[in-house]
Amino acid sequence: MGCDGTDAILVEKLRERGQRVTSQRLVIHRTLSVRDRHLTAEQVLVEVSEGLPGISLPTVYATLELFEQLGLVRRVATGGGALLFDSRTSPHAHAVCRDCGTVTDVEISEANARALSHAGDSDFQVDHAEVVIWGRCASCAPSADN
Ligand SMILES: [Zn+2]
Ligand SMILES: [Zn+2]
Repeated sequence: MGCDGTDAILVEKLRERGQRVTSQRLVIHRTLSVRDRHLTAEQVLVEVSEGLPGISLPTVYATLELFEQLGLVRRVATGGGALLFDSRTSPHAHAVCRDCGTVTDVEISEANARALSHAGDSDFQVDHAEVVIWGRCASCAPSADN
């Protein structure tokens, strides 16, 4: 998906909610929409500040929160205080490397995705469900030969 498709999705969602389309929102959304990215608000700020001089961290946060409400990103709490924003909103788990902090998408089965979104078969109203797997990535894990 190129920038045009990415922008079109955002523009449609913003208009549905009566929200303005601003260059800040477009640039932040493009930054997040690159596949397989998991960024903190601080990282988003660094990446967009060249194209959006003077943008502040609170503005980035407010924009990310808006995108979350629009269903365009989801938050991933990986522990250690780092809150990541993920533009892939379909159900998946995350594997986090304890050594280098790399976050990798992990596919989960349909049954698991359903269990997460409905808390099993209970009446519990789920608004956020998350699976985080901790360990060491291939580069950080000691090799089997050692
Ligand atoms: Zn690692
Ligand atoms: Zn992800």
